Amino acid sequence: MKPIAQTPPPADADTRRAAKPVIAYPLDTLPRPDMDAYTKARETLEKIEEVVVLPRNAKTFTVKAGNFFRIISIDGPQVGDLNLWSADNLSERFYSGKTRALHGTHLGTGDRLWSGFPYLRPMATITRDTLDWYGFDADGAGVHDVIGTRCDPYTNCLLSGQEYHHCCHSNLTRALAAETGLPLDQTEPHVHDVFNVFMCTGFTHDTHQYFMKASPVRPGDFLEFFAEIDLLGALSACPGGDCGAEHSSDAATGYPLKVEIFRPDPKALAGWSSPAPSGYSRNHGI
Ligand SMILES: [Zn+2]
Repeated sequence: MKPIAQTPPPADADTRRAAKPVIAYPLDTLPRPDMDAYTKARETLEKIEEVVVLPRNAKTFTVKAGNFFRIISIDGPQVGDLNLWSADNLSERFYSGKTRALHGTHLGTGDRLWSGFPYLRPMATITRDTLDWYGFDADGAGVHDVIGTRCDPYTNCLLSGQEYHHCCHSNLTRALAAETGLPLDQTEPHVHDVFNVFMCTGFTHDTHQYFMKASPVRPGDFLEFFAEIDLLGALSACPGGDCGAEHSSDAATGYPLKVEIFRPDPKALAGWSSPAPSGYSRNHGI
């Protein structure tokens, strides 16, 4: 697309561009998880429940604070779109944008999934990632992003003029409606920007557009979380499958995903307590 008008650069354009980047949210003062305690606790895990999510569908699950859960690739490469809520309060939910601002575009072991305002507390901490070997590839892509939002029927309709009902947004909406008993129109606003588990994504070097490429996930790979608060989760097995070609259609091969929930020996977590919501007064200058 041609710009309507191009502004001529000022004489000191290079100097202005050479300003040093500063990390917007330095993590020195961020409360850090006690990964040693989590590592010890995960040696005592006992599986208490599992849920299988079929392709082009979503399922909900609950995890008590202090328990762990894993999202596991079972039959073939498949991307999962994860939503998290506080189990007894749907208005406290995962905040993808702030999580990205704090931890970067892709999450890994030790990173946390933060809830939105006015809570802003860690909902879950990543305790194991079997795709941690991937890093960032030559295209600038990494795995498990908090850049993408979720595939949805509105953007699909905007770009293709077609209706498709098994995008992650719709899958998550149906699953949450089944869990809560709320009608669809009251359920849908609770569905939010996801954590893209196993998805391999980045921004193109030239146009800085969001891109995806085939997920490197193999059956047996998993991403493991420690639940910092009582959680209600919903996981969609994206219609894009490994997201190596397209989404928002039935074209890609899809595979199921499994969620496993584990209880550690409570003694292993002695000294841990569930984080409180933000201490900000909410005065806002009034
Ligand atoms: Zn999707």
